[in-house]
Amino acid sequence: MSRDFIPAARPLIGSAERAAVDAVLRSGLLAQGAEVAAFEDEFARDLVDGRTTVAVNSGTSALHLGLLAAGVGPGDEVIVPSFTFAATANAVALTGATPVFADIRRDDYTLDPGHVASLVGERTRGIMAVHLYGHPTDMAALGRLAEDHGIDLYEDAAQAHGARLDDRPVGSFGRFAAFSLYPTKNMTSGEGGMVTTGDAGLARTVRLLRNQGMEARYANEIVGFNARMTDVHAAIGRVQLADLPERTKARRATAQFFDASLTGVGRPTVADNVLHVYHQYTVTIDDDRDGFAAALRDEYGVGSGVYYPTPVHRLPAFARSEQLPNTEWAARRVLSLPVHPALDDEDRERIVTAVNSLARAGA
Ligand SMILES: *Cc1c(COP(=O)(O)O)cnc(C)c1O
Repeated sequence: MSRDFIPAARPLIGSAERAAVDAVLRSGLLAQGAEVAAFEDEFARDLVDGRTTVAVNSGTSALHLGLLAAGVGPGDEVIVPSFTFAATANAVALTGATPVFADIRRDDYTLDPGHVASLVGERTRGIMAVHLYGHPTDMAALGRLAEDHGIDLYEDAAQAHGARLDDRPVGSFGRFAAFSLYPTKNMTSGEGGMVTTGDAGLARTVRLLRNQGMEARYANEIVGFNARMTDVHAAIGRVQLADLPERTKARRATAQFFDASLTGVGRPTVADNVLHVYHQYTVTIDDDRDGFAAALRDEYGVGSGVYYPTPVHRLPAFARSEQLPNTEWAARRVLSLPVHPALDDEDRERIVTAVNSLARAGA
């Protein structure tokens, strides 16, 4: 390979993050403190229309603690997509509740409200919408369904910082939402997560659960975890939050270029009322997706990713036998191209040339 390899994902960490971390290290106050409090306030203001925001140590903790605080537990069912990262279903299972797997729509890879409706039963406690790849789920349809049945709607917004639906931000629809701040997500704190909610009682319970069940020191009210974010991580997250609008713009510009330039592969569909933040730019390859990915890498030096090759309900951890045709369809065909904000014009051109050449050769 004569040119630099273009990786599928590349976290951007600069001198501002290094300076912010250094300031925390010099202060000697490393654990959850003033930086975390400031990060929570800024995240609330910038991303979720001022909803209450509680920082935790991962997106998985945000899901887990949010579900526990919403009262989900043994005997309950929560409807989740199978076409997602396993953490979505793990968090449900870790509360003692049962994840019930619903199919997706082929156009945007998010929950199919019609199939979700067919799964609601006596034990259904809530629905977990996953805004996969940075594209919001159809929250209007799921909201009506939840209201009709008197159940909750939650959001896994791990991949969707800043995405909007009907000009309203993701993370502001559900009883609670969970964001991830893992390095490959649209913004990072190293590791970290955020719970956002309009329910003050739920927010208080999440705060208790993240800190051993304590509000006042050594006066533990409930049984809890240590799921705190550190000030070191919050310092990184605050810089990344300030940079997010510009980086989202870069992702969207790359997506627009791909939309206009890619031929011979299935391109993403985006509804008019949606602002997609392109955590992934995902195409579909009908024949031999894995061979296509290998050729992209070996012949053109272009990385790509398959999110996700095995539907969660088929993983050994869950081993369910239900048929979810659109989920199976997507798992065989999806391929995510580099769309991260570190790409330059030359990278974008190379990706398009590589994909179009391989698509032509395979046709
Ligand atoms: C990344 C991710 C999570 C988990 O977040 P972590 O911060 O890695 O724990 C959950 N759900 C989805 C859809 C994700 O992409």
